[in-house]
Amino acid sequence: MIIVLKQGVSDKQVAHILAKLKELKLKPLISKGVERTVIGVIGDESKLRVQPLEAFAGVEKVMAVQTPYKMVSREFHDKASEIKLGKGVTIGGNKIVVMAGPCTIETRARTLALAEVAKKSGATVLRGGAFKPRTSPYDFQGLGELGLKYLAEARKKTGLLIVTEMMDVRDLPLFEKYADIIQIGARNMQNYNLLKEVGKSHKPVLLKRGMANTIQDFLMAAEYIYTQGNHSVILCERGIRTFETTTRFSLDIGSIPVLKSKTHLPVVVDPSHPAGKRAYVPALARAGVAAGADGIIVEIHDNPEEAVCDGPQALLPDMFATLMEEMRRIAVAIGRQI
Ligand code: PEP
Ligand code: MN
Repeated sequence: MIIVLKQGVSDKQVAHILAKLKELKLKPLISKGVERTVIGVIGDESKLRVQPLEAFAGVEKVMAVQTPYKMVSREFHDKASEIKLGKGVTIGGNKIVVMAGPCTIETRARTLALAEVAKKSGATVLRGGAFKPRTSPYDFQGLGELGLKYLAEARKKTGLLIVTEMMDVRDLPLFEKYADIIQIGARNMQNYNLLKEVGKSHKPVLLKRGMANTIQDFLMAAEYIYTQGNHSVILCERGIRTFETTTRFSLDIGSIPVLKSKTHLPVVVDPSHPAGKRAYVPALARAGVAAGADGIIVEIHDNPEEAVCDGPQALLPDMFATLMEEMRRIAVAIGRQI
């Protein structure tokens, strides 16, 4: 249920409405827009049918939200949310944010070198996993805290922000300490305990779409984080499983305009994991920008032959530099910037 308040509603009237909701044991979430303020209500909505809030001073109308996700919907918040990532970088506005780095953190020297590559071409966020969700238990599982330390050192040297994947609720203190953005990977998109835990954090969360999840599943997962109090949720389309095998996953380019119309949250495209091969990555990244993505997260490597993970899809530094130029031109063509 959404309570739309009248323009010029007084603080006293809002307090009175909130007191009533509390009495009914309903949880309010306030969204202050430029033109109107709305209160989202979570809990047993049937109580509001018995106690019509339309009668309260300051209330314009009470609406049922048609979608199963509520707080992340455009009905709750009609303007696109701009999320502060840190160091003056925001996502969801006119400027498109580029995140680049290796799939996984390998050595200290390589982390610092790739941070320089990312920065030189204009990325503002460094990506890299220290805890890796590998399909095989025999594969490299990540450097753990040591990898986070390398990332933090790279941030200090370059000023880039850090996005890195968290897989276990017990690791939250480590991520609070080292990360700027907590990534929830595709395999954990429906790990609801993990979602609730990062929902209690104040760090922005980059939530990747599960490889076999619908857009509705995706938005419900975002709702889990949002309703815990963390409103800094960024969605990431990274390809879904289809019958096609020539690419690693099928990038659902159509999900971008759909998400942008259904939710106020920013949307990022990962062109690397759907491509699977570096030759296909630039086209998918360019398509992502053209389709309206608010950010791109892309894997890069200076020596893919040595890469511990996802070498075949990593862009070489010069390819990344060229792609940045191409994306800049596309951004300008659609009235945006990188
Ligand atoms: C990654 O970003 O390296 C990763 C593992 O991605 P995904 O969760 O989308 O597979
Ligand atoms: Mn990867």
